[in-house]
Order: sequence, then structure tokens, then C-alpha cells
Amino acid sequence: MIDKTPPPNAEGTPIRPPILFLIVDCLRADRAFAEVKLAPDRYLGRLARRGYLFTTAVTVAPTTTPAVATMLTGLYPFEHGLRGLLGFARPADVRTVAAALREAGYWTEADVAGPLVPQLRLFDEFDEYRWVHWREASLHGPRGERIAGRVRELQEAGQPWFLVVHLWELHEPRQVPAGFHGPALSRTVYDRALAALDARLSEVFPDDLLTDAVVCLIGDHGENLRFEPRGKVGKGFANLLWWRPTRRLAQPIARRLIRYGAHSDSKRLLRLAPRALITHGHHLLEPLLRVPFVLAGPGVPHGSSDALVSHTDLAPTFCQLAGTWFQGGVGADGLRFDGSVDADRRVFLETAWLTPIPGVHQIGLRTPRWKYMELADGGGGAALFDLETDPRESRNVITRYPDLARELREELRAALAAARIGERMTDESSALVERRLADLGYVS
Ligand SMILES: [Zn+2]
Repeated sequence: MIDKTPPPNAEGTPIRPPILFLIVDCLRADRAFAEVKLAPDRYLGRLARRGYLFTTAVTVAPTTTPAVATMLTGLYPFEHGLRGLLGFARPADVRTVAAALREAGYWTEADVAGPLVPQLRLFDEFDEYRWVHWREASLHGPRGERIAGRVRELQEAGQPWFLVVHLWELHEPRQVPAGFHGPALSRTVYDRALAALDARLSEVFPDDLLTDAVVCLIGDHGENLRFEPRGKVGKGFANLLWWRPTRRLAQPIARRLIRYGAHSDSKRLLRLAPRALITHGHHLLEPLLRVPFVLAGPGVPHGSSDALVSHTDLAPTFCQLAGTWFQGGVGADGLRFDGSVDADRRVFLETAWLTPIPGVHQIGLRTPRWKYMELADGGGGAALFDLETDPRESRNVITRYPDLARELREELRAALAAARIGERMTDESSALVERRLADLGYVS
């Protein structure tokens, strides 16, 4: 546990470090930690070398909006109510970390993209908030210079600050600038986009600019890379799902696979969901759940932990680092930098209410060793995986451990019994958000 009183400086006043919170959309834990040939002297490598790594961090939902809402509120989607991409906004009584940090004297600011639109009211408690269209979201473009300049201004202003930057480079269509193309660097388009982002991050956030700051870099959810294009032919194949002449045939086939996969024993077919061919959102299997959590800076020791942690822990952690307190919801806890493991930790999981495809809406419960999941409507398609002996989730062991499955199921159902939904957006806001999402390729 982090010490709740911040360390005093020479004059005896508490130090409230600036906090830079980098959310990399679609960043998978395995790719960020090891599998990509990221240059060790670039951003992620340097951050990991001086900071603290949580190697078993999972999202609460494999979709941006509910996941980011959880990071900022310490609440599960079934507590804060933003359970999908569309139609709901943050209820007025749901407090965000921005309010707590402002009370502690922080300047709070967010620079976000994708579906994190103003209509969600998720950023209303920030002093400043900017939403950028995905076409302008690339850090490789002018946004990178703008954010670098802004951090410099914040550092010079003297007030402690909390800046959320949401990065969209890995999301489809992935951004691979000149110099990062070609298989020499890495096999897939995703990995090339990540290598390019890593290089760009070290330009935008040079270490000497942020020596006194806490930097937290995480993913909002993973990404399905089974069919990740490995060149032009691969990309062309993947695009058959979205290309107008072929999608009328390809999408229904893919939807049928999801429906079958959601009820299937192994759930392997779930990974073939329409956008799961190349993206995220439609299942609760590990490739979409595991994300990197890396923190570095004042108050954060060097080290790593394989304790199960989640997005609910972030708001309490930021507040602890800032010398204040944040309540959070069910089981939310500040991240522990002493390597201790809570063997009873539970993380509740759900897919977003995204599409009308049967089988997509799933709920689950993750413990350090087990994962239980089922269909949200009626509990069909139940599965239990032993992640210790079967990390690839290829054997559903629900018939072998019926008592454990029942216990986890009851726990999950009890937690969800108190579920709420967010405030309904006005029809006008809903229509606007729907247009934004269509623009991102989310609503077909
Ligand atoms: Zn996302």
C-alpha cells in the first residue's frame, strides 16, 4: 500500500507530484512487455526500467468507454452506469478522480479521442478537456507537438497537475508512419504501429521534462491479433469484413460464428467475432483483457508484481500519490508497490452493450487463478478456465469443478444485482454520439 501521507519536502510542505496518465487504446500486455522488438532505450523500455510493472492487470470491459469510465471513477461499469458506447452518460452523483484531485489543489486536464465524446459527461469535472477527432488524434501529427507544449506549460505554471492523454495510434486504422513499415521491424501492422508510437512517445515526453512527475501508462483493453494483417495481402483479407461489396456476405458469417462461439464449450470461436478478427469488444478472453500497467516517478519504487489488479484501482492510486483519498467502489484498492498479492482478489468483467448479436453480452469474474464467464441473459454458455494451468483458455473445466463454478457464479450475480445504468442521453446527444461512433466504424 502506498503511504497515505505524501513525503514532505525540505520546507515540510507535502509534495504533490504532477501526474501524467497515458491511456494507450488497444495496448496488449504481452506486446507492451516483451513480444515486440521495442527498442530498449525508447519510451516503454525506459519507463519499465525505472518504474513498477503490474504483469497481471486486466480491464473490466474490453471496450473504451466503460473501461475509461472505470479508470476515472474507481467503479465497475455496473456501478457507474456507462455500460456501452452509446446512449448513457455519467450520472451526476458519480464522482471522478478529477474532482478529488482538484480539491487537493491539482489542475486537471484531459486530451482524449475516439468514443470519449463530451456527451458522456465523463470529463465534466476536469478543469480542461479536449476531444479530438480520430483523423487529428495521431501523436505523429500536430497533436504530438501540441501535447508536448502543453506539458511544458503545465510544468512551468508551478501548480500540481493531472493530465490524461488518450492515445489512438494502435486502434484501427493503425498509424504506421514512414520508417516503420516493412517486416524487418516486426511481423504485424499492430506491432509496427506500437514501435512507431514508442519512438514518438520518447520525443513528446522526454525524461528531463518529467523528472518530478509520476507517469502511468496503461491499456484500456487488449486487441485480437489472431488475424492481424502481416502485410498488404493480410490487410486486404481482413478488410473483406468491412469492404462494401464483400461485407454483406462476410459479416453474417462472422456473426454466426460469434453466436456459436458464445455457447460453445471452448469459446475458441468467439475470437472470430466480426470485429474481433482484427479488433476488440466481443468477448472476455484474455487477449482482450490483459493490459500493461506501468507506473514510474516519485513515490513509486522500482519493481514488478504479478498480483491481479484492475482499472478500478487507478483512481484510488492517483489520489494516494497526490496525498488525498478516493473511495472507489466494490473492491477498488490502491495499487500495492510491495509485491504483496491479495489471493482473494476478484475482478468483475462484462462486455459492453454493443450490438444486438446474440452471445456478445457476456459477464464474468476473474480471480488470480480462475475465470468464470457466462452469457448475460440467462446464464447460458458458461465456462470456467484455470488460468494457472491453461493460460490460453483452451479447456473449459466447468464440469470438473461444479462447486467452484457455482460459487463464482453466485458471487458474480450478487455483485450485478445492484447494477445501475447511466443517465439516459437526450435523443439529440444520442444521435450525435451515434454519428461519431459510425465515423469510428463502431456501428454498422
Ligand atoms: Zn479502446
